[in-house]
Amino acid sequence: MSYPGGDLRDQLVHVGAEAVRTGLVIGSGGNLSARASGSGQCWITAAGSWLDRLGPAEFSLISIPDGGSQGGHPHPSSEWRLHTETYARRPDVNAIIHLHPQTSVLLTALGYDVALITTDHAYYLREIATVPFDQPGSTELARAAAQAVAGGVNALVLGHHGCSVLADSVELAHKRAVNLEQAAQMTYAALLLTAGQPRRVPQIPARFLETLDRGEAQI
Ligand SMILES: [Zn+2]
Repeated sequence: MSYPGGDLRDQLVHVGAEAVRTGLVIGSGGNLSARASGSGQCWITAAGSWLDRLGPAEFSLISIPDGGSQGGHPHPSSEWRLHTETYARRPDVNAIIHLHPQTSVLLTALGYDVALITTDHAYYLREIATVPFDQPGSTELARAAAQAVAGGVNALVLGHHGCSVLADSVELAHKRAVNLEQAAQMTYAALLLTAGQPRRVPQIPARFLETLDRGEAQI
């Protein structure tokens, strides 16, 4: 079955249902947004939404970057600034998936890097940035997150909190979110198997990363 097309809200409904169904996150742990390419507004999940019970009525249309909303929509997620600040810094980004996946957050809290172990991890993520803890929903966290991805990184772990994964489409952002948590789960397994030594799990060989950087890699 192909990925749902059409309305961006339908695509985000799919992301929310799949994220919960596959154990990427528990029911209300995160928020999702998308915009038409180049738009100064984005759709974002409403405050208090359950990710596996979304429908078109659970989204707000808000302005970038100030979060102004049109009447008739529910209140946006309290973390809307995390989305709008990043859209403002990254004109190429049209979808942001913010989730609270447990293994990515646990490893980062313990000071371990999430390793890019497979070709998929490297292809979809390439680089994973982190930012220290700050209050969820705060302007400070939103600005730190936007700064961390300003140079083109598309996967970010927010300390003791969650991830923010970016792409030019909802489908690609979804693939990146899935690969981020799988990379974390494989890193976690590797650390268990090696009793935490070495602290840095071996990553995919550099020669594959070099083919990615030259745009030659196929997976
Ligand atoms: Zn959050």
